[in-house]
Amino acid sequence: MKLSIVTPFYNESEVVSLYFEKLAAVLEPWDDIEWVAVNDGSTDDTLELLKAQVDKRSGVKAVELSRNFGKEAALTAGLSEATGDAIIIIDADLQDPPEIIPEMIKQWQDGYDVVAGRRVDRSTDSWVKRKTAQNFYRIFNHFSDDPIPEDVGDFRLIDRKVLDVLNLMPEKNRFMKGLLSWPGFRVRFVDFERDERVAGETKWNYSKLFLLACDGIFAFSVAPLRISFFLGFLASTFGLIYAVYLISKTIIQGVDLPGYASLMVVVLTFSGLILICLGVIGEYLGRVYKEVKARPVFVIKDVHSK
Ligand code: UDP
Ligand code: MG
Repeated sequence: MKLSIVTPFYNESEVVSLYFEKLAAVLEPWDDIEWVAVNDGSTDDTLELLKAQVDKRSGVKAVELSRNFGKEAALTAGLSEATGDAIIIIDADLQDPPEIIPEMIKQWQDGYDVVAGRRVDRSTDSWVKRKTAQNFYRIFNHFSDDPIPEDVGDFRLIDRKVLDVLNLMPEKNRFMKGLLSWPGFRVRFVDFERDERVAGETKWNYSKLFLLACDGIFAFSVAPLRISFFLGFLASTFGLIYAVYLISKTIIQGVDLPGYASLMVVVLTFSGLILICLGVIGEYLGRVYKEVKARPVFVIKDVHSK
């Protein structure tokens, strides 16, 4: 039985050695471990520190990407390199407690194919982040055909079979939370409390998170298209009723020239509506374009291993 630990690293020089020490301590009982550490184009000395770990420990593979591709892509790269029977995905910053990994492995040995960590306590997050996250899950699951479990991040153990399915999924738009849930299989959750980062700082800000959320919704649902259709339908119904009213009024009361205000309101509202709907279509078109170009999700510059 071989375990792969997959972790993306982006400017994490402060946590590299702590990460290896802490995980190695937890994984003591298992001897066949493959560490897949992806350096996502860090600009500090993360890569050098990872290379030092390659020399120091057995089974460490430092995957060097050619530039910064973002977490989702770095994770995809790591997963494509993992060869274990069970694969554990964990962040570099130890916010997801490694202590629950033995429990995950146990569940996996009991026959679960996906053992995902679920955050039960988000008190280390700010109020705004908690609320936005909550609403994101609500909106996402309302609209998406493939729901994702609430408060479950990328921290999880997956069986080889699940990874094989993931590696087969060809989309270039990698919304990992969604992709990881899509294959199904026997899923089990392990609850944990999320800690603060041990060192370094978060790579996410609200605008990035917002984009990630939009990305997820557009990648996993056609609901925005349906909403535009519905809005268009509503608008034309309203327009039709208003037209009947105007025509009757003209027939009964004769031509009445003033009407600039109502005209402007209608023109402005409806051209806005049309632009919004065009934007929604554009969003999907852009995605189709990206998929059709079929550029690789990541570029591996080098793999350092012993
Ligand atoms: N990360 C990455 N590429 C990026 C941004 C982040 O590989 O462009 C990695 C980062 O090194 C960490 C993980 O993704 O291991 C999660 O990042 P972070 O802790 O900043 O996110 P948060 O926990 O705040 O959501
Ligand atoms: Mg973090």
